[in-house]
Amino acid sequence: MKKHNFNAGPSILPREVIEKTAQAVLDFNGSGLSIMEISHRAKDFQPVVDEAVALFKELLNIPEGYSVLFLGGGASLEFCMIPYNFLEKKAAYLNTGVWAKKAMKEAKAFGEVVEVASSAEATYTYIPKDYTVPADADYFHVTTNNTIYGTELHEDLDSPVPMIADMSSDIFSRPIDVSKYICIYGGAQKNLAPAGVTFVIVKNDALGKVSRYIPTMLNYQTHVDGGSMFNTPPVLPIYAALQTLRWIKANGGVAEMQRRAKEKADMLYAEIDRNKMFRGTVTDKADRSYMNICFVMNDEYKELEADFMKFATERGMVGIKGHRSVGGFRASCYNAMPKESVQALIDCMQEFEKLH
Ligand SMILES: *Cc1c(COP(=O)(O)O)cnc(C)c1O
Repeated sequence: MKKHNFNAGPSILPREVIEKTAQAVLDFNGSGLSIMEISHRAKDFQPVVDEAVALFKELLNIPEGYSVLFLGGGASLEFCMIPYNFLEKKAAYLNTGVWAKKAMKEAKAFGEVVEVASSAEATYTYIPKDYTVPADADYFHVTTNNTIYGTELHEDLDSPVPMIADMSSDIFSRPIDVSKYICIYGGAQKNLAPAGVTFVIVKNDALGKVSRYIPTMLNYQTHVDGGSMFNTPPVLPIYAALQTLRWIKANGGVAEMQRRAKEKADMLYAEIDRNKMFRGTVTDKADRSYMNICFVMNDEYKELEADFMKFATERGMVGIKGHRSVGGFRASCYNAMPKESVQALIDCMQEFEKLH
């Protein structure tokens, strides 16, 4: 049976990326060696990093003066590296979910943290709009897509101070104005690569401004200077990321990824709104994520939730269970998700409705 992979992360990758990576695991560049058994300093591997960096810059239209890094540690380590490297006195955070809250928690160890707004009281079902970012903050941190709650900032915000963004789950799903940010980071395992590599886009001249000592490995400057090769980087995930970047380019770039994402999301939200058994959980429709589509069963059908899960699973749907903190369902529709899989989920919802 065909599987439709709606996993939230690690998640679906283009088939071609998986095949090319599998090929390199068997024989990298005709070398007779696996990509898993060569040095990261091998002359064949440097071009992999160089091309991945170049494609990041090209696809996201990154201006001069920024570096692209591939690190370990996940987005969660960045929650600590961000304030280590950028927080001198005060930082502003928008609290839009568990990830934002975790980022804020780390920052509090380094200086004053201003929570400009929070939707915690409403289980993060919307993104706050009315707030003021203090003009004397070192940076304003946002989570552009809230993977667990299914809310998303579809455009870059305006801010009186430089922004920093966790884009773990929506990177390469829309064009971004990188010049508004001094740092953009994320775990690659949602929309780019298998788990194990973290991407960081950092503005070079924003570094070196804090007065504290920064441990070598946590200092972005180390990795800028070392070209992500200060120590051994995650070689295999970087190789896979390169294949995804090539795939995005060949498929029309981030503007086309955005068009496809909106098309898929519109289809599924239309069904959620139409179907009498379901409702979306995000209260402000403008905040609905294109990447993680969250919905629950309407109150009168609540007891059928497990039945629908079983029904959908029997028809090949994978990973549609909502995060444990939200419940219900979450269909993650990252770049690699084909429209046909979204249609298959919609068909399930319609068939299930007919049965009841
Ligand atoms: C998954 C996720 C994280 C955590 O990423 P790790 O790489 O597991 O640390 C952080 N932020 C967002 C928005 C995420 O979706």
